[in-house]
Amino acid sequence: MTDGPDDLAFLAESLDRVEAAMARLDAGTYGTCDHCERDMDSATLERDPATTVCTDCAQARIGD
Ligand SMILES: [Zn+2]
Repeated sequence: MTDGPDDLAFLAESLDRVEAAMARLDAGTYGTCDHCERDMDSATLERDPATTVCTDCAQARIGD
């Protein structure tokens, strides 16, 4: 692993996402899509535990 601005930015963003996921755990909304408010399936959460949107919404948002 190299130390560079890009890596630091990535780590900072990752930390933000993990903290946001923990806040959602506290609030009881973890695993619920921020966009359509449906429950996300476990495969989605396993692939990216800190995700905030379901697969459908993530795909729909590509190109925003
Ligand atoms: Zn969704």
